[in-house]
Amino acid sequence: MSSVITHMGVGVVIAEILLRIWETDPDCVIKNRLWFWLFGAFGGLVPDLDVVPAIITGEMMWTYHHIYTHTLLAVGIMVVITAAMRFKPLPSTVLAGFVAHLILDFFDNSILPFSPFDQVTEWGLHISDWFVANGWYFELDLIFFTFTTTYLEFGLTLMSFSLIPIALYLLKRTWESDIQASCAVNLGK
Ligand SMILES: [Zn+2]
Repeated sequence: MSSVITHMGVGVVIAEILLRIWETDPDCVIKNRLWFWLFGAFGGLVPDLDVVPAIITGEMMWTYHHIYTHTLLAVGIMVVITAAMRFKPLPSTVLAGFVAHLILDFFDNSILPFSPFDQVTEWGLHISDWFVANGWYFELDLIFFTFTTTYLEFGLTLMSFSLIPIALYLLKRTWESDIQASCAVNLGK
């Protein structure tokens, strides 16, 4: 399963692409970059927030995982919410991050498209399972818990982390700028 870091990283990359589609003025790209990234990362994170209720109630962390938020129903609800916001750039960026999360989980593992009504039908390529079957995984010891990670997942997570210096460099330009231009998204810093 892809880590939350990878999902948020993918959300940021998609947000950057959408930013460049919506904002044709380079000044506006710089000005609104942080907002797009935050919304893209949030969209990438949202589906996996389904582990939070079980943590709160003290149940097994994976009790509700994939049951509600990794489904076509969830995508439908997200599309309706985004449509209600007239597909404005930032809500649409959240939607794109959300959908990208499910696509990544589809490749990596599987999703339950028709859940919660049908929890048997699975769509997925189970790439992680292939790595595990071939011994391409190891135990990662964190202070609070140990978990098993495939080399693919670990590599993708490292790649996401390696984007951080580039991200900080790009955001520095937002801070240094004093752009008054009128942009498609007028939030600025
Ligand atoms: Zn997920």
